[in-house]
Amino acid sequence: KLVSKDFKKTNSEISINGIKIGGKHTTVMAGPCSVENREMLFEIVDKIYDAGARVLRGGAFKPRTSPYSFQGLGEEGLKYLREAADSKGMLVVTELMDPRDIDLICKYADIIQIGARNMQNFRLLKEVGKSGHPVLLKRGMSATIKEFLMAAEYIASEGNLDIILCERGIRTFETETRNTLDLSAIPVIKNASHLPVVVDPSHGTGRRDCILPMAQAAIAAGADGLIIEVHPNPAEAMSDGDQSITPDEFATLMKRIKIISATL
Ligand code: PEP
Ligand code: MN
Repeated sequence: KLVSKDFKKTNSEISINGIKIGGKHTTVMAGPCSVENREMLFEIVDKIYDAGARVLRGGAFKPRTSPYSFQGLGEEGLKYLREAADSKGMLVVTELMDPRDIDLICKYADIIQIGARNMQNFRLLKEVGKSGHPVLLKRGMSATIKEFLMAAEYIASEGNLDIILCERGIRTFETETRNTLDLSAIPVIKNASHLPVVVDPSHGTGRRDCILPMAQAAIAAGADGLIIEVHPNPAEAMSDGDQSITPDEFATLMKRIKIISATL
């Protein structure tokens, strides 16, 4: 398998416009769940950049449980993301849900996010593989690690090995948290694959009070980075406010992360 350690012994490092993911680097992606307007991105971008984030996240096409919930701003959201990221020399990661939008996403984003709900959308995986664009592949909410790695293989088999794997929690019987963040997936995947692994404690727990401890644990367990939902005013967020932190809380988290990564 192209994504396996048997195929490639050394850990892969992906470099996009001078920003590195994997290898010895700890790379943090941060931003709102949904791009709600232009202002909210500019309210957070300086603070998250100064704290150390190098990739701006934000959804313009949102996979919402209800068709009546906010679905995202579409291309307008992509433009705002690009503009805010460019103001700091950051990268953009945003979700692609439909192969019909691939050219649009590639025009504005540096990294294509494949969401948990589409981890086994094999046609979509092949399309992003063919695009050659770097991909952030999120683990399906009920996918085994083997299935997760085979989904990555679909992308790799089209000739695209710029893949970042994202552990974002799986469904269990527990109801106190939105998902159960599978921290053991980090060493298991790192032993099986050369691809970088980032952890999403926001979707992984669904709880603001869990973001800092789980982010610290993820880095201690060997994750190559994090993806975290940051909102200027989480209480008013149009999606995922309960799991979003403020830019100030994010800055505190980054200080703690740096201490941990320096000891590894
Ligand atoms: C997201 O990152 O906003 C998202 C929808 O994540 P997931 O696909 O992991 O649920
Ligand atoms: Mn979200």
